[in-house]
Amino acid sequence: MRVLQGTGVSPGVNTGKPINIERTLDFSIASTISLDEGIKELTAKYKSIIAKYNSSSREIEAEVLEAYILILNDPELTNSLSELNEANLEKIYDVFLEQSEVFKKMDDEYFQQRSEDIEAIGKELIFTLQDISIEFDADVPQVIFANELTPNETSSMNLNFVNGFVVKEGGPTSHAVIVAKNYGIPCILGISSADFDIDNVVEVIINGSTGELTINPDESSLKIVEEYKATTIKQLESYSEENLNKLGVELRANIGSTDEIKSFKDSLIKSIGLFRSEFLYIEESTEPELDSLINSNNLLNEKFEETIVYRTLDIGGDKQVDYLNLLPEENPFLGVRGVRLTLENRQLFKTQISSILNSSISGKVKIMFPMVATLEDFQEAKEVVISVANKLGAKIPKIGIMVETPSVAISPEIYIDEVDFFSIGTNDLLQYSFAADRGITSLNKYHDALNPSFLKLLHNIINTANQNDIEVSVCGDMASDTEGAYMLYLLGLRIFSLAPSQAPAIVSSLLKAKEALKNINIDEILSQKNSQSVRKFII
Ligand code: PEP
Ligand code: MG
Repeated sequence: MRVLQGTGVSPGVNTGKPINIERTLDFSIASTISLDEGIKELTAKYKSIIAKYNSSSREIEAEVLEAYILILNDPELTNSLSELNEANLEKIYDVFLEQSEVFKKMDDEYFQQRSEDIEAIGKELIFTLQDISIEFDADVPQVIFANELTPNETSSMNLNFVNGFVVKEGGPTSHAVIVAKNYGIPCILGISSADFDIDNVVEVIINGSTGELTINPDESSLKIVEEYKATTIKQLESYSEENLNKLGVELRANIGSTDEIKSFKDSLIKSIGLFRSEFLYIEESTEPELDSLINSNNLLNEKFEETIVYRTLDIGGDKQVDYLNLLPEENPFLGVRGVRLTLENRQLFKTQISSILNSSISGKVKIMFPMVATLEDFQEAKEVVISVANKLGAKIPKIGIMVETPSVAISPEIYIDEVDFFSIGTNDLLQYSFAADRGITSLNKYHDALNPSFLKLLHNIINTANQNDIEVSVCGDMASDTEGAYMLYLLGLRIFSLAPSQAPAIVSSLLKAKEALKNINIDEILSQKNSQSVRKFII
């Protein structure tokens, strides 16, 4: 047995036979058709896959392929190719590599990742010209290994037999990762079939959460996988409307990318509890126009029937946007971020508020501000919303704050006469409470939400809100963590905004918390000295 470490990008654990589908380019193999025919054939192939995807609710992949057709038929590219013919396979591929290099050099991460797509299309064209396709041995559970995975390749697979993807190249938004997340297939990046003797390996375990790949696993490792699968099945069984009612809880979704909106499918979650709107700006290379923001908001309306808690721009800290030309800061997490930044950039802020109130979500939206640290922050930002609403003749929505700075968490009562709701951002609240940068893994011991001093802060906020009939939810990662959610339930929280994929695990944990509540004295938990002893209260 041997364990290789990659980067887990789509969670889940499973086993399978490792299958390498990598086709290497060999320019010595002659083309069987003309270059023009090859482009037409590949375009037609993409079109037929798009039709297949559209009829099986794989819209995200269909969209990727629509973009592939545009790239393949891009006038600049076809112009460069027109000087070549099918005898020049290497030169044809070079044209794609050159284009890909241009994208790779762009500052924007989104465009950098598109450079991989251009290379993939180039390779696919060469294989089409050479009449080389991949055949899948589809009826054994398998873990697919590839240098990169193109939509063409994933479309030829029977995903029912694919238990994992291990991809050497590619970023977190590459095609393989989108497919994996969409289908709940574990995926690891950064490991290659060349890292072990794949031909002599009969089975691997893929752990898409930790990024571990276990080669030729022993009995005890396989037993852990079986236990994991049994737990997952049990969690899915207890994930029902009936249990949500029994618990008296509402689950809402955290949404932070276009893919998350499109791939969202969960009939028990009808609301968004945290819309991380900054991704609409981060994914672009220039400031988005009002109309495009309105279109994105309209998309939300179609997917979510109930409340949409829209967080206004939370830029700054670890989220930088080049075109805003923000000043460099020595401590960006303590700098001009969140509501501080939008108050300094009124036009940016007003456009965003207009886009919300002008879109189809306006009837169900609640607006909240990130990084509020004083009552004045809230009042000033609220004024902006009211003035935009008045100007548009729109109804003023419910307006609330994220509780993520210690100053608010210590004294939530300062805000109760002014806010419509609180949403606790445990990620930032932890980093600011323990003075430990949330991005530094070696400081993880300080990022433990079960620390009793942190629980006391949470208890204070939840109690203050509940006693004053103010809605309170948690939208930080603590609500997506089984132990964290368990403790929040004991503390009286009933609205959990979480990563939708975690919902079944959270409901099973909350059912246990409900049982525990019968015999628990919360003061006893809060009087513990560290998180280890708090954990002993979790059954
Ligand atoms: C938080 O800080 O807990 C939160 C939900 O916001 P973000 O993770 O986007 O900073
Ligand atoms: Mg935050």
